[in-house]
Amino acid sequence: MKFDTVIIGGGLSGLVSGISLQKAGRSTAIVSAGQNAMHFFSGSFESLTEAPERLMEIFSESGVNVHYSKGVRLMPLGTFKESSLSLEDISIFPDPAFARKVMVVNLAGYHDFFSSFIAEGLEKTGIGCRVCTIRLPELEHLRKSPSEMRSVQIARVMDRIWEKVMQEIRLMLKDEDAIVLPQVFGLQDITVPARIREVIPAKVVFTGTLPPSVPGLRTQMQLKRYYETLGGTFLMGDEVVDAHCHDGSVHSVETRNLGRHYLEADNFILATGGFFSKGLAATPQEVYETVFNLDVEYSEDRNAWYDPDFSKDQPYLDFGVKTDEALHPMRDSVTFKNLYAIGSILGSTRKEFGTASGGAILSAFHAVDKILSGK
Ligand SMILES: Cc1cc2nc3c(=O)[nH]c(=O)nc-3n(C[C@H](O)[C@H](O)[C@H](O)COP(=O)(O)OP(=O)(O)OC[C@H]3O[C@@H](n4cnc5c(N)ncnc54)[C@H](O)[C@@H]3O)c2cc1C
Repeated sequence: MKFDTVIIGGGLSGLVSGISLQKAGRSTAIVSAGQNAMHFFSGSFESLTEAPERLMEIFSESGVNVHYSKGVRLMPLGTFKESSLSLEDISIFPDPAFARKVMVVNLAGYHDFFSSFIAEGLEKTGIGCRVCTIRLPELEHLRKSPSEMRSVQIARVMDRIWEKVMQEIRLMLKDEDAIVLPQVFGLQDITVPARIREVIPAKVVFTGTLPPSVPGLRTQMQLKRYYETLGGTFLMGDEVVDAHCHDGSVHSVETRNLGRHYLEADNFILATGGFFSKGLAATPQEVYETVFNLDVEYSEDRNAWYDPDFSKDQPYLDFGVKTDEALHPMRDSVTFKNLYAIGSILGSTRKEFGTASGGAILSAFHAVDKILSGK
């Protein structure tokens, strides 16, 4: 099978590059092994305080609604973080004292939402807090097994019964001017969070739960659907297991499911993520890239890989493949002319693109521009 570009990895960077290339009239395939960082997404595209026009265009065409204003957002443990470009569901406040009194609502039997931490955090900012639990018969079948009582299973039910749930919440409201709810609304029906805000006579703040992330999964589904609408081929649940390279160029890649029906292309994009998604891996002696065995930038001193203080930023997260200006990676110092590395596989090696999802998006655009200009 022959494409203009084959993209290895279907996370945010893979999808943004695939969509951009399809929009430019190129034929692409994305090979996606499985879970990616979007399944853990907070709802905020960190390191982006504003969005490039082309990103806003992709979001708008995919149905992903975003907003940005300067301020802070409430985190799952009741702390606040500076705002970045965020999904519409995520509230951004000018400062942490966003209300006078708040009702934090949890669901009976749901342990992946930390209502008491949130209440404690809000009280520290001087906001009065009350934690309420709501028992829903529609969730009883999930409660029988704790492994079923997870955000996505709950969200599937909530899409159907959210109006009834909001009626109950309205009756529970006393003099609170805001409520905090877990992000378990709007998985399939993206209009639900906005409609909840319309029917509750107080400010509504949706806050993160333990993974999987409902807004992250929804965003991933929207982008994937749009990519396929544009004619892209998304090979879900498949994995690139080998690459055939010659003279500094990649000729084709082999996937687990397609076997000897190799995927050939003029260009290849490596968007396999960092350690979390197995784009990078480590032995006690070395850090390596898992598909092409590319050169990786990391410290030879193993003790410098991590900070013993668990709460600090961990140095190993900065490790990434070495690339030239055009994002061509290299193996044994020989540059691959038709391969581009984007997203979190770069670690912090290319600071000019920023970090986190902001870096994933901007590096994807950079590689796309290079491909389209033939560089
Ligand atoms: C747990 C977690 C939570 C995060 N939350 C946020 C957040 O809230 N906000 C934010 O801005 N940033 C967040 N980040 C940073 C994140 O790295 C970026 O936001 C961005 O989503 C990374 O996208 P990516 O496409 O580079 O990689 P990933 O999302 O990691 O996607 C890589 C994909 O490649 C696939 N893959 C790997 N090897 C192969 C192979 N051989 N063949 C085929 N497919 C393969 C993986 O299965 C995976 O699907 C988070 C990171 C992690 C790890």
